[in-house]
Amino acid sequence: MSTDRYPFRDIEPKWQRIWEESGQFRAVEDARRPKFYCLEMFPYPSGRIHMGHVRVYAIGDVLARYKRMRGFNVLHPMGWDAFGLPAENAAIEHGVHPAIWTHENIAYMRRQLRKMGLSYDWDREVATCDPAYYKWEQLIFIRMLERGLAYRKRSTVNWCPGCQTVLANEQVEAGRCWRCDREVAQRDVDGWFFKITAYADELLEWCDRLTGWPERVITMQKNWIGRSEGAEFDLPVAGRPGLGIRVFTTRPDTVFGMTYAVLAPEHPVVDQLVGDPAERDAVARFRAEVLRESEIDRLAADRPKRGLRLSARVVNPFTGGEIPLFLAEYVLMTYGTGAIMAVPGEDQRDWDFAKAHELPIIETVKRPPGWVGEAYTDEGLKINSGFLDGLTIQAAKRKAIDWLVGRGLGTAKVNYRLRDWGISRQRYWGAPIPVLYCERCGMVPEREEHLPVVLPEDVQISGKGGSPLTGHPAFVSARCPRCGGRARRETDTMDTFVESSWYFLRYCSPHYDAGMFERSAAEYWMPVDQYIGGVEHAVLHLLYARFYTKVLRDLGMVKVDEPFTALLSQGMVIKDGAKMSKSKGNVVDPDELIRSLGADTARLFSLFAAPPEKDLDWNEQGVEGGARFLNRVWRFVHAHREEVRDAPRSIVPATDDGRAFRRVVHETVRRVTDDIERDFHFNTAIAAIMELVNAMYAFEAASLDRVAASERAPVLREAIETTLLLLGPFCPHIAEELWSTLGHGGSLFREPWPEAEPAALQRDSVTVVVQVDGKVRSRLTVDVDSPDEDVERLALADEKVTSWIGTRRVAKVVVVPRRLVNIVTRG
Ligand SMILES: [Zn+2]
Ligand SMILES: [Zn+2]
Repeated sequence: MSTDRYPFRDIEPKWQRIWEESGQFRAVEDARRPKFYCLEMFPYPSGRIHMGHVRVYAIGDVLARYKRMRGFNVLHPMGWDAFGLPAENAAIEHGVHPAIWTHENIAYMRRQLRKMGLSYDWDREVATCDPAYYKWEQLIFIRMLERGLAYRKRSTVNWCPGCQTVLANEQVEAGRCWRCDREVAQRDVDGWFFKITAYADELLEWCDRLTGWPERVITMQKNWIGRSEGAEFDLPVAGRPGLGIRVFTTRPDTVFGMTYAVLAPEHPVVDQLVGDPAERDAVARFRAEVLRESEIDRLAADRPKRGLRLSARVVNPFTGGEIPLFLAEYVLMTYGTGAIMAVPGEDQRDWDFAKAHELPIIETVKRPPGWVGEAYTDEGLKINSGFLDGLTIQAAKRKAIDWLVGRGLGTAKVNYRLRDWGISRQRYWGAPIPVLYCERCGMVPEREEHLPVVLPEDVQISGKGGSPLTGHPAFVSARCPRCGGRARRETDTMDTFVESSWYFLRYCSPHYDAGMFERSAAEYWMPVDQYIGGVEHAVLHLLYARFYTKVLRDLGMVKVDEPFTALLSQGMVIKDGAKMSKSKGNVVDPDELIRSLGADTARLFSLFAAPPEKDLDWNEQGVEGGARFLNRVWRFVHAHREEVRDAPRSIVPATDDGRAFRRVVHETVRRVTDDIERDFHFNTAIAAIMELVNAMYAFEAASLDRVAASERAPVLREAIETTLLLLGPFCPHIAEELWSTLGHGGSLFREPWPEAEPAALQRDSVTVVVQVDGKVRSRLTVDVDSPDEDVERLALADEKVTSWIGTRRVAKVVVVPRRLVNIVTRG
């Protein structure tokens, strides 16, 4: 076997096989040991893994292997988020069934992952398209239905014409489909919802308790939930006793600046307000125009605000004055009450609208001197506001609400931006929603003993005309579970985010068939101690998984309040300044990389090039530098294996060289441990190991004639073994192979993580004499192995020395290590 270069083509498959066959990473519950649940977000089986996958799985694997060496009982599973549109699109394009396409992709990607040497417990592999998996979320759906947490309603939804399906608000990015990038349209459809809004307060409150999460993710979650406090009250319609328009405002202090009011165009009250046929036509035209737009476009700050003035007027209850009433595109039926009081003085959108429609503007907050601008949204004292004048905004808000409540006109109210989670998809490749529609009984859930409602495989997938399930008579026509009469089965399938909302629970007992998961296993493993995945999931997946976990808790199934204790959001992999993508032609194929340089090099580079949370810039030189480093380690161990094999494990060296080198070894242990523990600074941890290897080569060269063999061998042995133990989590194959080369029988990953010995870290100090022009003028105490530059700097900064040098110029400084600094001056 080559002792010159690391022969990864032989070594890597060998250890992958041994780990696999010995079941080394199989996780078994063990109440006596502390557990560590390490989880990377599972992939969609799109066909091949990419460098982004390599990066995130390498990060997870370092942690899993490290924690095992620290004595934790580690659960590190892998599986497949296997439902979803690409499978169906592939079926439309290539005529291959989504199930076949998905399973082939899984098989291929599993092989790719195995080649990376990841320490997964493959016995726990889960694919969400398996009926044995989705059966359980169908059961939970029925439980949620019973509790009103799942419900059906007709609503205006985001519709992607490309994907032919409904999208959640979270799946619309800048008016476009998050998956296919087509412009999203609005449509009215019947669909199923999960009542995530019932948990809005708790989801928000717990944000502040998730101290292991990145701040920016917490902020995104909070903004998405979007809690706002304010007041809700009615604006009476002038001349229509008993008819009022309910508005919500977060700024009840600004009521005296209300110069008009606005209804969402689709607000149902509009039909009661408009009688005149010409006005009805105008309203219908305006509605048609506005409803073509997406919510995002309607709310965009940078476009003119379209509006339609109605003949009806409303009354400001605070002043008793009548004000005009508009329909405007910038007010949404889905937020608040679908109606607002407009206060252009303190709201920029109202200001823009007031300007465009020549409406009066009243300032109700005193602007600071020299203020130039439009709407004013900062602090200040109230003006032009009747009984609120002179108050701060906060005090005025309270007083305005008290005024409303005292007269029975309104209430304090909390509003959320968060909407219920629309889970219906008019697509085939998803978990069927387990309900039926009976001619007699109406909507009826499937009986639990009939679950799973299995997705039929013999369907025609054309991509046209809604869900392929509607064209499958044997699936659609069924018996009513309640009366036995004729019933039609629901053909909508669930959003795939439902499957990813609980897969981490299934991993706890993936083969359990008496329930969603085995209670004792979930109690042992949950919560996930470290979750790792892309920031693109900061809102969608993470919020849904948190919600679903809370629902399961309230169903009495789990004890945890939150699924993920800590979260790491890794950066992207970029090359030539852009995210790797086929269209940019800057893709590095992990298979090719592993074939040419090996998995350990691929892992090393993806961990070394940047800290995990930052973007990683791919460069060939860096990758090759990683390969050279591993070859250096390989050669050093082979060159010294005979020398160190039988040496004692550790000694206290007698020489300065031996002590200094041993200190480097133990300092490296401390640095690498700190870097892993503190914010996963794997890049600096690897840099420290590289420095240690440099120090080994330097010690080897310098110690031959200075250190006795009886000291050199044990010191080198400790250094080599420590290097391998520290390197193991990052580059497991080479570390494991070299470990066995040294004569160890067992796996390196069953060894404890090395500990820095305090005694070894202690620095010896020496006294160095400082001469100025040949005369001793001072003495310094320095570390025994301080570099000459440091000693020189200390000498020149010494007060006694500077006073002797005075105004003369330093011509020359000579440092004799550990003994003397001689400073020569000139006139
Ligand atoms: Zn789409
Ligand atoms: Zn029935």
